[in-house]
Amino acid sequence: MGHNFGSDHDSGGSCLGNRRDGAYLMNPFSPNTIRRNSDKFSWCSRSQIIGVLNAVFAGRRRNCFASERGRLVQPIHTDDGGDDDGISHVI
Ligand SMILES: [Zn+2]
Repeated sequence: MGHNFGSDHDSGGSCLGNRRDGAYLMNPFSPNTIRRNSDKFSWCSRSQIIGVLNAVFAGRRRNCFASERGRLVQPIHTDDGGDDDGISHVI
């Protein structure tokens, strides 16, 4: 799914995760065990995805999102307080 939203595989630094919390969703290899980061996008993935969503909602890229039962999926630009990255998590 991350690829569909413009994310490459995680490839370096903190975006690869760590021994304790494991790798993130867009790691090029599937983990053997589920850890804290297993269901999260890395900062690298989030910034790539947000770049694509911002371009879509600014009209610079074609919008192929569709509403489902009246709800429209769109990026939110405020922090959800869940961590310190300043990015909400709506994906
Ligand atoms: Zn992939």
